[in-house]
Amino acid sequence: MFDFIDMEFTDPATPASSGPYIPDAGECLRCGMCVSACPTFRLFQSNEESPRSRIRSISKILVENLPITETERRHLDNCVQCRACETVCPSRMAYGELFDQAQAQLQVSTKLLGKLALWFIENKAWRRKLMPLLAVYLKSGLQKTLRWSGILKKLGVAEAEALLGKPALQSLAEHYPTGTVKRGKVALFTGCIAEHFDRDTLQAAIKLLNVIGYDVIIPPEQGCCGAIHQHNGQSATALIDNNIAVFNALNVDAVVHTATGCGAMLSEYRSEHSEAAGLFRQRLQDINAFLLEHWPDDLQLLPLNGKVAVHEPCSQRNVLKNQQSVYALLQKIPGLSVIPLPDNHICCGAGGSYMLTHPDNAAQLRALKQQAISVAQVDGVVSGNFGCAVYLNAGDCKIEHPLLLLARQLQV
Ligand code: SF4
Ligand code: SF4
Repeated sequence: MFDFIDMEFTDPATPASSGPYIPDAGECLRCGMCVSACPTFRLFQSNEESPRSRIRSISKILVENLPITETERRHLDNCVQCRACETVCPSRMAYGELFDQAQAQLQVSTKLLGKLALWFIENKAWRRKLMPLLAVYLKSGLQKTLRWSGILKKLGVAEAEALLGKPALQSLAEHYPTGTVKRGKVALFTGCIAEHFDRDTLQAAIKLLNVIGYDVIIPPEQGCCGAIHQHNGQSATALIDNNIAVFNALNVDAVVHTATGCGAMLSEYRSEHSEAAGLFRQRLQDINAFLLEHWPDDLQLLPLNGKVAVHEPCSQRNVLKNQQSVYALLQKIPGLSVIPLPDNHICCGAGGSYMLTHPDNAAQLRALKQQAISVAQVDGVVSGNFGCAVYLNAGDCKIEHPLLLLARQLQV
């Protein structure tokens, strides 16, 4: 049992007089409305694993300048960063932003493997050089042997290795012109890992955008969105500034993203150059919303009799808040019944890098999602976030991006 009034809190700080109002971590009302929304509270049934308790630790770090204990630190680290707590908080607590600030202040030191992973996702040139080696590893018998030997577990890479799919080795072209009457031009954000491991979705995006009359530009200088860095207490400034400069230099109608995890990060880009960040955010659009808004009246899709459930990633539900466009878009397929996956408000456990850093907690959350999928009794499940799809598919769920389903139903 936990007690709603068992903690001490400081007086509310004075909000900033200009700009968006972000409540200070000390302004938590202790109302506890966030508790039942929290997946880690659901797992552990403990007050320490609730947002309210974590806000208390964050307040210590950011407002009171006090050290937190190892135990408080552990509970803070257990947060899956789904931001479900933000959506129910009457104080409009900006939990995600406060969490990132606290992580940065704690100067989280990443282990060697973590450092290597961050280096890998931010260094595009090296990533491209190393991908062929990875492809050879996956094709050869080495994968089986290493798994069997247990060395991957000893090295702490077994979870990551189990998620690996066949990488795309060729670079995408810089320009995909529409084959129909041209209505405009968009830039496509391709991400870091997704560029290699979610190539089918990117190709479906290009195909759909071309079919509705848009040229697609893929600037090769773009890079990782920086989400994994930022949520792990590392600086994402260089990655953010690079993407803002690269995309702002393009004369396009919109910058579209296909993965909601990246999209959530991109939609909150801030920079020293606030006008540049503002322009970037202004042109940014989720691909589903873009396709829906610009769908030609005369474009018909092939019918499909069946039922699909929509998994709503936390980044879409709690940050982008645009999940309705996925339903509306899929309903353009004649005969298809589209329903929300039961318990969409509960995180699937993927949580960016959470599935790798907290594999046991993540697996318990995934099991809840697997249960929801089997209860739904559908022919397929779609998810707009690459990370969620990879993690759920590794748990024997069959999830695909809604764009793949849509592109298959094109008559061209
Ligand atoms: S972000 Fe998610 S896991 Fe973290 S405290 Fe909020 S609801 Fe709980
Ligand atoms: S809902 Fe908001 S104000 Fe209420 S306890 Fe949670 S963080 Fe604090």
